[in-house]
Amino acid sequence: MTRDISTRILHADRLGGAEHGASLKPLHIATGYGYATAEELAAVFQGDKSGYVYGRQGNPTTAALEAKISMMEDAVGTVSFATGMAAICGAMLALLKKGDHVVASRFLFGNTASWLNTLSQLGCEVSLVDATESRHVADALRPQTRMVFVETIANPRTQVADLDAIGKLCAERGLVYVVDSTLTTPALFQPKAVGASLVVHSLSKLICGHGNALGGSVSDTGLFDWSNYANMLPAYRKGAPSGWGLLQIRKKGLRDMGGTLSSEHAHRIAAGAETLGLRVERACANTQALAQWLEAQPLVAKVHYPGLASHPQHERSLRLFKGCGSLMSFEMVPGIDPFDVLNALQLVIKSSHLGDNRTLALPAARTIFWEMGEEQRKSMGIADSLIRVSVGIEAVDDLLADFEQAFAGLRK
Ligand SMILES: *Cc1c(COP(=O)(O)O)cnc(C)c1O
Repeated sequence: MTRDISTRILHADRLGGAEHGASLKPLHIATGYGYATAEELAAVFQGDKSGYVYGRQGNPTTAALEAKISMMEDAVGTVSFATGMAAICGAMLALLKKGDHVVASRFLFGNTASWLNTLSQLGCEVSLVDATESRHVADALRPQTRMVFVETIANPRTQVADLDAIGKLCAERGLVYVVDSTLTTPALFQPKAVGASLVVHSLSKLICGHGNALGGSVSDTGLFDWSNYANMLPAYRKGAPSGWGLLQIRKKGLRDMGGTLSSEHAHRIAAGAETLGLRVERACANTQALAQWLEAQPLVAKVHYPGLASHPQHERSLRLFKGCGSLMSFEMVPGIDPFDVLNALQLVIKSSHLGDNRTLALPAARTIFWEMGEEQRKSMGIADSLIRVSVGIEAVDDLLADFEQAFAGLRK
């Protein structure tokens, strides 16, 4: 019998042979690694023997976290990075070259959208499409298209990409299908099930959960055939082709660019990941309750949450995910200033982070989506009055009571 994923995460370090039988992988802080002979050192450098060479390319503590993420994603391997953005940039810069074309959802985390703009200035062409329907992705494909990038549930409007149909399309066309599953996490969804080639996470969010570490990861599901990939460099065509893509990402995207995850942060993220299942279950239930409460308020014009029957991709979400996540957003009726709503909340923190144990909220258009300007905000469906809420694991009655007292003040 295969054990449940939560059980496997809890026992992974010990069963993986952690030093002295330690129940969690110790913190390895050494920068360099010594070998008894020059032959051994050269063999490790050349990838003929496993081992560590220099901390920028990883160490035993980050490797233990990578093994857990691979376990959670049923992946052949994972490369960790200092942040989610380092993971996204590292993977793209390692796998793309001048003249390539990328199709991405236009409903994206703001910094990812900003990064794709930079990528387009580096000689890659980027098409942003409405990925809630795969036909928009299909229409945008060109002979030079190499990669399709989507988020499972988009931040902040919670659009859900046409994940399985896009997966089929990418498989037919031989495209690298990159899925950012930060908002779903392995507790709710495995992108491998819809044909993802690479799965990206911001580990800073729900997987860590405690708001005390930054990290990112790229996992290879093993579904993509790297032996046919046009940009595969000869140096990394080593061993089974299923490992080639990640080897190139580790060497070009991590080693050369240097966005390495620190062991301290890897350690905290691994500790947080132990309770991912419990936290996500509670946060999803809280979000569903809050979304339903808000939807019943006369002062609220719209609530965006895939768990509501009113959400355009409600059916798809129920079919694909074990839960609808802990991020939601809402718009007040005209005449109510979103700043007044936020300022009236006492328990909820006004903060830009998400996936924290604590409930956080912010006015999306005037903070994280401000820099991109009104036109792009409009194309992403972000109204000026949009309030984004990342729901935590507080007792649901305390959370609802905070919104009740805030709304009571607004009515006066
Ligand atoms: C936060 C986030 C990122 C970036 O992660 P960082 O760890 O903050 O760099 C990428 N994608 C999504 C969906 C996110 O929410």
